[in-house]
Amino acid sequence: RSVVSLRDVTKRFSNGTLALSRMTMDIRKGEFVSLLGPSGCGKSTALRIIAGLGRPSQGMVDWPASRIGRDGRPDADIGFVFQEPTLMPWKPVFDNAFLPLRLKGMGKGEARDRVMAALETVGLKDFAKAYPRELSGGMRMRVSIARALVTDPKLLLMDEPFGALDEITRQKLNDDVLRLWSEKDLTVVFVTHSVFEAAYLSSRIAVMGARPGRVVADMMLPRPEGRE
Ligand code: ADP
Ligand code: ADP
Repeated sequence: RSVVSLRDVTKRFSNGTLALSRMTMDIRKGEFVSLLGPSGCGKSTALRIIAGLGRPSQGMVDWPASRIGRDGRPDADIGFVFQEPTLMPWKPVFDNAFLPLRLKGMGKGEARDRVMAALETVGLKDFAKAYPRELSGGMRMRVSIARALVTDPKLLLMDEPFGALDEITRQKLNDDVLRLWSEKDLTVVFVTHSVFEAAYLSSRIAVMGARPGRVVADMMLPRPEGRE
């Protein structure tokens, strides 16, 4: 069953750049899809459209399992992890992870258990009171993953999240993401330009090409042993 479906999605930015051209793709429940392709081929643009953060210029995006809000975006929760951790440096870890719930109007007391559960999931529950500057790069990225998980999303979108980190940290975080995927009944779309990362993580690899800016190869991988 599809979680997101793109039909002939074309995206032309106001400066004339054609980022996507008739991209068609279904993301099914439970998949771990890597979107692979060279810089500038439209991976981030596609991910933002999947998140409902950008609208197609032509074509359709649909979230069949979600109700669509008045703003045209799915009201089902979608977690988004950006390239940089994008934390508020003046706020402790707890407040950073709490942000999505605060934006939904939830009070801190009410949110406490969920925020702490998300921090525990990424191994940082003892760091709730720490400030981002006190953490390593890998730990900051884990805070941003906790922030994406705090609303208990069904769909987790990650835009080249670990590209700025050293290989060992990156590999540890990849294993964390795999653990989350198998434990939490998540569908994941993971943008990367690392073939290695895509092969290590995914149940499916979709390769995008620069021109035309759409999926040019789409492969299902057998799930490694021990994974659901
Ligand atoms: P990728 O994530 O694969 O590197 P992007 O989706 O970021 O690719 O970008 C696809 C193309 O669209 C690139 O040529 C990029 O320069 C262009 N682009 C991205 N965002 C904008 C924007 N807001 N305005 C104009 N052009 C953009
Ligand atoms: P990175 O992922 O950036 O390499 P690590 O997760 O390896 O960072 O941790 C960097 C430092 O912070 C290490 O000294 C590690 O012991 C400490 N650290 C990281 N996570 C925790 C944690 N959950 N509890 C205690 N110490 C931690």
